[in-house]
Amino acid sequence: MAGKDLNAGYDKNPTGGRVTLVGAGPGAVDLITVRGQKALREADMVVYDDLANAALLELCSPNTEKIYVGKRAGRHYAPQQEISAILVREASKGQHVVRLKGGDPMIFGRGGEEEQALAEAGVPFDVVPGVTAAAAAGAVAGIPLTHRQHASAVVFVTGHECSGKSGGPKVDWQALARTGATLCIYMGVRRIAEIAADLRTGGLSGTTPVAVVANATLPQQTVQIGDLDSAETLAAAVQGQPALIIVGEVVRLAEILAHARSNLALA
Ligand code: SAH
Repeated sequence: MAGKDLNAGYDKNPTGGRVTLVGAGPGAVDLITVRGQKALREADMVVYDDLANAALLELCSPNTEKIYVGKRAGRHYAPQQEISAILVREASKGQHVVRLKGGDPMIFGRGGEEEQALAEAGVPFDVVPGVTAAAAAGAVAGIPLTHRQHASAVVFVTGHECSGKSGGPKVDWQALARTGATLCIYMGVRRIAEIAADLRTGGLSGTTPVAVVANATLPQQTVQIGDLDSAETLAAAVQGQPALIIVGEVVRLAEILAHARSNLALA
């Protein structure tokens, strides 16, 4: 990388077109940032997928062109290269393109790959961060992801079956088990049995508390609390839904809060 001018390509952009990668937040429409809303209102075109709440498109002007490039579980609607190609092509025509992505665009959202394609093509872009699923899941479940007494670190990790096999770095679950960090597992529902076994081999007890939070911040949201030994059963109940798995001592605080809430309800 040394000596390479990363901005050199921008001279190739005479059209004024650009791309804004916008984090849509975890689901609820009012969890997008003010800056994200502004970008949607000003966009000539929006390129969006499943995890971004489609109701956000109503913020756009009626003239804004909307392109769906979602990937529903197991079925790829548009390959990543094609999405990047759309962004480059449309911005090169002089359009302001908003790439709307669920949560934060740079956390397991392939935002980095899109940035690389834009940089290579000399298309200017900027990024509007969003509320990532882990933060949302913690908030709705009453779980502080860090806590002075229980966790000094938090790890965002993918449980996707392709990780490692697809040439990316393999997740060392046993090493993660030894960190004492709160683990926020994205895309982990299908592989939770294997992950839990690895975490136990790494030294976590089967009674380590686990939360499975599905559809956080949406009306169909569910929160289940258990432990590493019951994690597979909890995950089975939310197969096919977006769910965040939280592993760590901080999950116990949700149990305390849930208890307090039920006491209040009884009072
Ligand atoms: N960029 C996104 C993550 C994309 S990966 C972000 O920052 O949140 C997709 C995974 O995110 C899902 O499989 C699920 O694990 C998690 N996820 C997304 N939205 C969620 C929600 N509302 N509730 C729980 N998990 C969610």
